[in-house]
Amino acid sequence: MRFTDKVVMVTGGAQGIGKETAKRFLQEGASVVICDYDKAAGVAALEEFNSDKVDFYKVDVTDSAQIGQMVESTINKHGRIDVLINNAGITLDGFLTKMDESAWEKVIAVNLSGVFKCTKAVAPHMLKQGSGVILNASSVIGLYGNIGQTNYAATKAGVIGLTKSWAKEFGPKGIRVNAVAPGFIETGMTAAVPQKVLDLMKDKTPLRRLGRPEDIASAYLYLASDEANYINGTILSVDGGLVV
Ligand code: NAD
Repeated sequence: MRFTDKVVMVTGGAQGIGKETAKRFLQEGASVVICDYDKAAGVAALEEFNSDKVDFYKVDVTDSAQIGQMVESTINKHGRIDVLINNAGITLDGFLTKMDESAWEKVIAVNLSGVFKCTKAVAPHMLKQGSGVILNASSVIGLYGNIGQTNYAATKAGVIGLTKSWAKEFGPKGIRVNAVAPGFIETGMTAAVPQKVLDLMKDKTPLRRLGRPEDIASAYLYLASDEANYINGTILSVDGGLVV
């Protein structure tokens, strides 16, 4: 029960890694706020959690006004936000020559600007508290690039840049900022990846399996916990050794 009395906000918390992360924080005593733009998935997640310690907000992380309302309601209810996990993300893959500007802009808007907007809304409260943890979803793709993922790779590399900047900016104020760089994880996001590519990734991974949402959730819980009190500005690869 590492998070008793802590308030944890998870964006994109209705499915995949975000949902598993929310579940694990609940199990460890936190009050959890999830947001997602998929209302049906959010309501289904709430039913699955079956807990009075979780709230769902239908929020699109590209919309500052919606984010602001969620943060205000959370502060009114709990008085604080201890952990922000900027998890919401999308892919719109394609070779550069076939990627239209809207695919570029949409992925930037969610994966990069969404992280900026959510953190901008939450950070003032953490600064007032003099404590907090901000965790961002990067990716192996942000570290090493990938064919057909110009937009996604740019956002996940961008997340590394802002993570390190915020670690320096907020560290002196008692707020730690880190990122997780997952490998290929079995979620809705990778369901769209052709099976032969996933098999190739499995073969390339020393642990010989794809990751599971719980593998990434465990990393978030560790980085948010007091056990990670001296970890700031790091990008933790959780990829079974894929990129070793
Ligand atoms: P997922 O598609 O299963 O879940 C993402 C969730 O984010 C969904 O519930 C979706 O509705 C929500 N979301 C998307 N856009 C949103 C928006 N604008 N506003 C609010 N919610 C929004 O994906 P996942 O695999 O769980 O990925 C979670 C994060 O981890 C993403 O940032 C992703 O880039 C990153 N990641 C995933 C993998 C992987 O292999 N699955 C690898 C590396 C990084």
